[in-house]
Amino acid sequence: MSLREIKLCLLGDSGVGKSSIVLRFVRDQYKDHVESTIGASFMTKHLVVDDNTYVFQIWDTAGQEKYRALAPMYYRGASAAIVVYDVTRECSFPAVKDWVRELRHNVPGNMVVAIAGNKCDLTELREVRTEDAKQYAEDIDAIFTETSALTAENIKELFESIARRLPPEEIYRPN
Ligand code: GDP
Repeated sequence: MSLREIKLCLLGDSGVGKSSIVLRFVRDQYKDHVESTIGASFMTKHLVVDDNTYVFQIWDTAGQEKYRALAPMYYRGASAAIVVYDVTRECSFPAVKDWVRELRHNVPGNMVVAIAGNKCDLTELREVRTEDAKQYAEDIDAIFTETSALTAENIKELFESIARRLPPEEIYRPN
């Protein structure tokens, strides 16, 4: 039994559902309009995985995605990231590559990266094929999943797989 604190950053284009994923995971709630605060904000959530307790400190861009170069404090000490796209919006998927590039540029060393195709409940409106996204995630050695903040599908599982992938030395230690 151990307690690990993990700083995790949410990235992805505006409107893909980042804040909704956080709200679902942290409070098990869903709202049509999630209030964004000004600047980066974070929420914490405890999760027990395989007898270990993880304290996720989750940073959301809070509507600042257009400022590609987010404040360095956003990335500082991060050991994991979730890059989100919207399965119903084709252009949000190629943007994932840009976000991953930015991430690599800002975070030196290894980190756990997960790619999440959100809004998978909207089956009729799908524009991004699962296979394409899965292949890309495999190529960059990232976790891949499709989620729905609306139905809660794969939300908890996403954070569980991140926790399982974290090497012990990558634990965030606030100073
Ligand atoms: P952000 O800008 O990436 O933080 O995106 P938001 O969390 O603000 O979500 C943008 C819009 O998409 C909101 O109207 C949400 O209600 C909606 N949304 C988010 N996640 C889902 C989902 O899983 N399914 C559906 N159908 N809508 C979603």
